[in-house]
Amino acid sequence: MDNHNDASTELLNKVRHCSLCAAHLPLGPRPILQWHPQARILIAGQAPGRKAHDAGLPFADASGERLRGWMGLTAEQFYNPQLVAILPMGFCFPGTGKSGDLPPRPECAPAWRQTLLKPLKQLQLTIVIGQYAQAYHLPTAQPSVTHTVASWQDYWPDIIPLPHPSPRNNIWLKRNPWFAEQLLPKLQARVKQVLLLKLQ
Ligand code: SF4
Repeated sequence: MDNHNDASTELLNKVRHCSLCAAHLPLGPRPILQWHPQARILIAGQAPGRKAHDAGLPFADASGERLRGWMGLTAEQFYNPQLVAILPMGFCFPGTGKSGDLPPRPECAPAWRQTLLKPLKQLQLTIVIGQYAQAYHLPTAQPSVTHTVASWQDYWPDIIPLPHPSPRNNIWLKRNPWFAEQLLPKLQARVKQVLLLKLQ
């Protein structure tokens, strides 16, 4: 293993042993992320849900199935860290509140995000999911996730904003048919283009 790989492994180990906000995590620290410096696509999400926590795997739930369908990726492609990095805004399951999962822990992004983003020199596409990741990753603020996603052409082709693929958003998807009709075909074509580049 060369120095570059040593440094990457060491960084990942450090993240996986993080307990910075342990006092606020109902199930304790269990950072769930997928990362490799060669990744071509970054999925910037919110925080792992309970199923992902239990499985120790990002998007190991209905949201993940939908997201893979949106992107046109097989599970094998999606879980290949040399193709896809998955960095939620909070790496550990934050617990559940009255209306779903709690927001990502605010300690996480300041502690880790820049350190993990900086080595991703091969990134061609960042998929930014939900309000917390959009607030962090997008250069222009919009009043809501709906406005941000509807303005997807402003960020094209390096960044694509998406709503959360959770079944909780089924009503949003019904109310916004343009998303499936216009944006999803573009997303799939862009993902394919980026991954073909990787294979050349
Ligand atoms: S959420 Fe982030 S900062 Fe908190 S313990 Fe997990 S990895 Fe560390």
